[in-house]
Amino acid sequence: METAPPAPDIAKIITAYDNYTFREQRRPRTVGRYYPSEAYHCLRRQAYTYAAGVDPTPDPYVLSALSGGIMHHSRVAEALRWWAESHGYTFAGEVPVHYVERGASGLEVTVSGRLDDVIIMRGGGGDTVVVEVKTVASMKRAVLPKKAHIAQLNFYLKAYPNALGVLLVVDRGTGAIRQYTYRFNPQLFNESLVRIRRLHMSLTTSTLPEAEAKQDPEMQWMCRTCAFSELCSNNRPLSDAAAERSRFNFMGVKGGEERGTPPPLREARRGMNSPLSPKPRPSGEGGGGQT
Ligand code: SF4
Repeated sequence: METAPPAPDIAKIITAYDNYTFREQRRPRTVGRYYPSEAYHCLRRQAYTYAAGVDPTPDPYVLSALSGGIMHHSRVAEALRWWAESHGYTFAGEVPVHYVERGASGLEVTVSGRLDDVIIMRGGGGDTVVVEVKTVASMKRAVLPKKAHIAQLNFYLKAYPNALGVLLVVDRGTGAIRQYTYRFNPQLFNESLVRIRRLHMSLTTSTLPEAEAKQDPEMQWMCRTCAFSELCSNNRPLSDAAAERSRFNFMGVKGGEERGTPPPLREARRGMNSPLSPKPRPSGEGGGGQT
């Protein structure tokens, strides 16, 4: 029998692609600039991430979840565009959201996000709907809706205070969808800002925050995929994350840079003919796809 030629290792190619797209979405880590999608992540993990100056490459499970999230987002966007065309709604373009807080000392804290993860629909009568799509591994196991998701949508509603906010949660396993509707909540917005101020304070004073996720049963899942668990267990200072930066950069990816250049994520989205196809933007901006 003729020996078959060696086939490409497709699992490896997919892992490399997922890593590539993740790297493309990584955000600049500058103390003073924070992201709505992370406001309810473990404070200690966020502090280590900023101290390291880089988003640690996630493990394969998280990468797969991120890819699944992009696929479900595209599916929802396509469906809504199809519906909108016959119901007098249009999609607004990508809109940056910035909230700048100026402290007494002149210090500025910027909360920054982009609405490319959010679908904006505008009706002919001036009504606006902001749709945020989130995925969960299993609705049966998740406690829904998650406060972190509501708070993120609430940040975007700050930019559209009269809009209706819709949180759409998709089960990555079954494809089932649940919908929750909100208006802008100033109290929740202030509560989220308090968390961001705490993070800012710990970074500017080089103080290690408490191991928040370990102490909160609802957050403990974050520890299972945390790249900083070893540092955390030993209460190592934030400066150690900076010293070990290279360990968190592309960790788990052999060789770091794979040969060849997969198409950028945003081009892949364009290929899906998404109504959210983003307009070109200045380089250096972080992506809004991480949740
Ligand atoms: S191991 Fe858990 S508590 Fe520690 S930094 Fe990571 S997520 Fe936070």
